[in-house]
Amino acid sequence: MTQEIEKCPNCLNTFTLKRLNQKYCSDNCRIQKNNANSRKFRELTKTTNHILLKNRNILAALEGEQISEIDLKIKGFDFRYVTNFRTNEQTKQPDFFCYDYGYFFVKTKKTQLIEIFKL
Ligand SMILES: [Zn+2]
Repeated sequence: MTQEIEKCPNCLNTFTLKRLNQKYCSDNCRIQKNNANSRKFRELTKTTNHILLKNRNILAALEGEQISEIDLKIKGFDFRYVTNFRTNEQTKQPDFFCYDYGYFFVKTKKTQLIEIFKL
């Protein structure tokens, strides 16, 4: 059997394969890499959850009001983050949600506002 040489994706050292599906030079490197990946994923979800909760709290403070898109942005609302959306059966327009608060766009002749409601 010829010896297969691989490069460890964690420490970047080369090593001789002991098994065909071996990816790392050692258990320590495998564990380090898995822990690093888990840490990255936890950071990603923490950041996303923080933005969603901030959006939800901004909507909660404005329940029942109408506000312009720019004013909602100024308050820190991030339109890229919602937890859900649905098509409103009456208006056929989308309602967007951040947990238990939602909003939809209200178009008038001159401008477009956003109306906020609680589920
Ligand atoms: Zn290694």
